Amino acid sequence: MANEMVRIAEVIVDVPANNTDRPFDYRIPPELQDDVQVGSRVLVPFGHRKVIGYCIGIKTASSSMRLKSIIDVMDMAPPLTPELVQLGQVMAEEYLCHTITALQSMVPAVLKGTYQKMVKLHPESREPLFSLLSDPEQQLYSLLEKRGECTWEEVNKIPGMSRSLLKKLIEEERILVEERIGDRVTKQKVTWVWAADADQLRSGLQTLSPRAVRQREILQYFLDHPGEVELSKLLTHIRTTRSTVKRLVEQGWLCWEEREQYRDPYGDRTFGKTEPLPLTKEQQRAFQAIVRPIHEKRAHTILLHGVTGSGKTEIYLQAIEEVLRQKREAIVLVPEISLTPQMVQRFKGRFGKQVAVLHSRLSNGERYDEWRKIRQGEVQIAIGARSAIFAPFQNLGLIIIDEEHETSYKQEENPKYHARDIAKWRAQAHGATLVLGSATPAVESYFKARTGEYEWIQLTERVHGRPFPEVQVVDMREELRKGNRSMFSQLLARSLKECIERGEQAVLFLNRRGFATFVMCRSCGETLICPHCDITLTYHQTNQTVRCHYCGYAERLPQTCPNCQSKHIRHFGTGTQRVEAELLRQFPDIKVIRMDVDTTSRKGAHERLLAQFRDGKAHVLLGTQMIAKGLDFPKVTLVGVIAADTMLHLPDFRAAERTFQLLMQVGGRAGRHEQPGKVIIQTYSPDHYSIHLAATYQTEMFYRQELLIRKRHVYPPFCSLFTIMISHVDRIHLMKYGQQMAQFIRNKAPADCHLLGPVPPPIAKLKDRYRLQMLIKCQTDPKVLVRLKHILHQIENMFDDRELVISMDREIMNFPVGYSDLLETSQSLI
Ligand code: ADP
Ligand code: ZN
Ligand code: ZN
Repeated sequence: MANEMVRIAEVIVDVPANNTDRPFDYRIPPELQDDVQVGSRVLVPFGHRKVIGYCIGIKTASSSMRLKSIIDVMDMAPPLTPELVQLGQVMAEEYLCHTITALQSMVPAVLKGTYQKMVKLHPESREPLFSLLSDPEQQLYSLLEKRGECTWEEVNKIPGMSRSLLKKLIEEERILVEERIGDRVTKQKVTWVWAADADQLRSGLQTLSPRAVRQREILQYFLDHPGEVELSKLLTHIRTTRSTVKRLVEQGWLCWEEREQYRDPYGDRTFGKTEPLPLTKEQQRAFQAIVRPIHEKRAHTILLHGVTGSGKTEIYLQAIEEVLRQKREAIVLVPEISLTPQMVQRFKGRFGKQVAVLHSRLSNGERYDEWRKIRQGEVQIAIGARSAIFAPFQNLGLIIIDEEHETSYKQEENPKYHARDIAKWRAQAHGATLVLGSATPAVESYFKARTGEYEWIQLTERVHGRPFPEVQVVDMREELRKGNRSMFSQLLARSLKECIERGEQAVLFLNRRGFATFVMCRSCGETLICPHCDITLTYHQTNQTVRCHYCGYAERLPQTCPNCQSKHIRHFGTGTQRVEAELLRQFPDIKVIRMDVDTTSRKGAHERLLAQFRDGKAHVLLGTQMIAKGLDFPKVTLVGVIAADTMLHLPDFRAAERTFQLLMQVGGRAGRHEQPGKVIIQTYSPDHYSIHLAATYQTEMFYRQELLIRKRHVYPPFCSLFTIMISHVDRIHLMKYGQQMAQFIRNKAPADCHLLGPVPPPIAKLKDRYRLQMLIKCQTDPKVLVRLKHILHQIENMFDDRELVISMDREIMNFPVGYSDLLETSQSLI
């Protein structure tokens, strides 16, 4: 007995704080020996509370004298695989967040334990004399009798209910309050009914009294429809009640059973089965390059750099088929806004029920059910937005990131991960192939492809051989000179008129981020740029200054243009509503569908508006970037970009890249079909390389130019970037902390690290908290990074001030990989 080994679980508890961000040891009690595994969600005592945690390791020891025990295991199967547990730890390290935050980001929202207070009748309490109860007490009793239990919030909503009354009821042991840790959405149960013995149904009909009309109908139903039926369907079909069916079950004619059922968000749709298309030569070459590493089961990254319409999706579909043939699995990431029914259709059409779809418009319950299909091995393909990269597959063969340059792959709250980094890590762990697909890859990806870190495959032809639309750039400075002060150039106005007269449709595009205010001269197009950073200065109305949000440089708002002395220098920003109003003023008879965050916030609005446009219910679709991609409308022959500059002048070193990508994508919207298309780009900076090179389809030139600039000013991919944001309710305190941190970092950081700031970010005060930002550019040398991360951890604990919030973000150039032996270990553990 004395030298018997005990098993101990290392648990990361759901208490996100610096001093609890480490594993805590708990004894695994004998009755839970089989259930606690690496990746299990467990309930443990922590201080005076019970909290949820994740088991990240199991070890043995000779004694567990002073350890507390795990109270319970939350799920039948561990939500996380050992691979994901390890990934969570790497993420915490790399993204400088708490381990629990990283682990929780991998599971559906419903598994993020909620601490719910439930109210029940006390089991010992005697039935009260109803007439003696007060109104709120009566309501409480009838609620509890009807429902068995209800939440603390519900009880407090009862009119007239008070804390003191509840306290009294608890003290008198009439009600009971339980602190429950549970999942927000329970599994959906469905009752199925079938005939106990089909051969006996006829004799059953004879036995039943002729007056039992409904019962006879039900038996007749099963004679006509052999097999099982959902109770709810039966009830609506026969128009009968549950108790009638129950009587037949009690008499032994029927059986019923409650079964767990998945909510299938696409359950009511049928997807016509599609067959693989014969690939074009170019597609064939790309396909071969992708299946080669798949067959060799080696981790490998490919940049599939193909123009819009080059048939990338068909290549994905056929590569996935190869993966399924190997009995392996695939994850497909697409940007949230591309997860339209058309895209889902293409995957469901080819692979039917082998596909799980994960996106944010699903309810929590639907998401949970799709996720469980993956976890239980019932599907082999997961298609979804960013977080689908954590799909808990155990034998991944292929990960595809479509439109890999999209900003939505970066999560902006903790853990601030980029799906591309996670994909690389998982591909390494599984020996899987990673395909990054885009017509306009991220500059970093292009750089890695051209320097040999990724394999580079180009698709230069459109499948149907349609030419790219003609692009015309309109110089809006000229328009002003000609006396046109409207936001539509003469060319765009005329083209729009003609397009509508021909009975065709137009798409007008405006950038959502156009509201960020920058200063520009309307005569010469000059914008104010920081002399130190090559970043657009941002206008601050309060003190009439322009500032650099990277280095803090500031100057007074000039009255005249420093370039041409014109007085037409002003701050900019245009919204979709303003464009719509202007459009209707100039073209009173046209119908416009506006798509922006305001008109698409309700569930289903997005699809509905697009369907209306496709059905020809409007002449013009006016919108933000949500209309820039993935949509394919046969009747659209004109695409207009209202102001290509708006994004160009954001205080972001990626401004040129984003502008180029957007314009290329917008161009891809026109002329996908029989009629030739036309693209009109309005701009105040027609000579800016991002606009000029997009308009002439000079992709290669653009990347070269952009890389030169990145190199000169040392931005990614030529450095790693850390952003530190600190906030505090008190501005003086904040500034003091900021200065001290900056001093500390400057003193301790390796020589190659360069700190900029602290400066106020574009939003300098948020929710009554002042904010300061620091930027560290540093070498991507792993040794330098390790030291810097160590320093950043130190500053997290530098000040003992609960009001101070520190948040860090980073641009990772090289996510650590090299856990290729992991797959074997994780499989032996499962
Ligand atoms: P991308 O994703 O590169 O923009 P898509 O995969 O959407 O391109 O392909 C564009 C169109 O060409 C789609 O309508 C698709 O069905 C069609 N297509 C793709 N490959 C082939 C092929 N090999 N033969 C015929 N049509 C194809
Ligand atoms: Zn600057
Ligand atoms: Zn000027």
